[in-house]
Amino acid sequence: AYAGPSYERILETRRTHLTPNLLAHFKKPLVIHAGHMQWLFDHEGRRYLDMFGGIVTVSVGHCHPKVNEALSEQSSKLWHTTNIYMHPKIHEYAERLVAKFPGNLKSVCFVNSGSEANDMAMLLARMHTGNQDILSFRNAYHGMSPYTMGLTAHSTWRFPLPGVNNGLIHVMNPDPYQGIWGGSACRDSPVQTKRECQCQDYCQAGDAYYTQLEETFKFSLPRGKVAAMFAESIQGVGGTVQFPKGYLKRAAALVKSNGGLFVADEVQTGFGRTGEHFWGFESHDYLPDIVTMAKGIGNGFPLAAVVTTPEIAASLGEALHFNTYGGSPLASAVGLAVLDVIEEDGLQRNSLDVGTYFLKGLAELQQRFEIIGDVRGKGLMIGVELVSDHVKRTPLSSPHVLDIWETCKDLGVLFGRGGLHGNVLSCRPPLCLTNDNIDFSLDVLSTALIKHINKRPRSWRYGQKAS
Ligand code: PMP
Repeated sequence: AYAGPSYERILETRRTHLTPNLLAHFKKPLVIHAGHMQWLFDHEGRRYLDMFGGIVTVSVGHCHPKVNEALSEQSSKLWHTTNIYMHPKIHEYAERLVAKFPGNLKSVCFVNSGSEANDMAMLLARMHTGNQDILSFRNAYHGMSPYTMGLTAHSTWRFPLPGVNNGLIHVMNPDPYQGIWGGSACRDSPVQTKRECQCQDYCQAGDAYYTQLEETFKFSLPRGKVAAMFAESIQGVGGTVQFPKGYLKRAAALVKSNGGLFVADEVQTGFGRTGEHFWGFESHDYLPDIVTMAKGIGNGFPLAAVVTTPEIAASLGEALHFNTYGGSPLASAVGLAVLDVIEEDGLQRNSLDVGTYFLKGLAELQQRFEIIGDVRGKGLMIGVELVSDHVKRTPLSSPHVLDIWETCKDLGVLFGRGGLHGNVLSCRPPLCLTNDNIDFSLDVLSTALIKHINKRPRSWRYGQKAS
């Protein structure tokens, strides 16, 4: 049972003593004091299904017994060495982690957050290539450090600092749903939903977006040279955006031929999340030069990493690179346990099976509710885009999305929200989710949609379709 300070006291402390820009979800924010696997518990003992996993972070389950055991065992032996002395865990962990990568991606640097990992990748790319300019997509999120804030392309997450955009270019987002070309058939998805495009044998939207990228090289970049291009394998914060088939493979080749490195940001898509593969980039059939990872790597423990080739890693030889906590004995013990659990509990396979089951259920829901404009994703990385006009794909406005989202919470399911307009329900639950949990989520979502639609005027035509 909960034994902490009262709800009112917590709200007051938050208001007076915590940074005012701390993000709080929901009109009546939740106090969560305990978690077990895919479940969270509030101070009044209510149980919630965690469909957001602490923003994709809780990969194997809250307080997974095996991870807890590894953490407690290591914590009674040694917490910290600052890596100025060698300890066995970081070595054991490095070996296990790089074994998960194809090609020559065999050198790892441990840090503590996704922003730090992407900072490091930017530094590596610039030092290795001798070039300055770095490309990322409009709508991308790569972090909030002063360096990565520039890569990130949502104004919500950017401060107007001098130099934030220095050497950074945001290229057209190859988004087949909200972008100007494409449809659901452009994407690599186990379930096709109703918004099909006109492409026949191959993806014309992919071609059109690729031409835009080529033009950036031809017309925007001095001498056409870049240090790197960053891409998430499925854009997370941007609204679970899946790029057209073949686009990233061609983009990576183009970047390489112009002297740059390709960086796969696997902060959301790594560690089996997308089901078919362990890494999201594998679905796009290309080999990045640098891979950054965080969140799911530590199941909630602060841990992140940059993996690259030994040749690229050697580019930082000019100075020392120091990180007090990166790859600490505690972090490494947790990271190892997470890898074990993903394997032992068959979580990558589970992500594929349960995620596909969810996509099918959502596609059915989409047939019933025009307010669901798009359903997309892979494995347990799924987005449900809510619209007020499904032909024009007009994003449902915030008050309406918030109403639906809050009802889901009141009925016991916590979704996230993403996309430029915050109108995409984000589903990134712990990978131990079951089909029963999906049935429950679908029931809750359809109940919340009906409740919302019934509040709207009768003239509003995006109601439930007659069945
Ligand atoms: N990259 C991606 C794709 C992310 O989603 C995030 C966090 N939402 C980051 C990087 C930054 O990670 P962190 O918050 O750990 O700095």
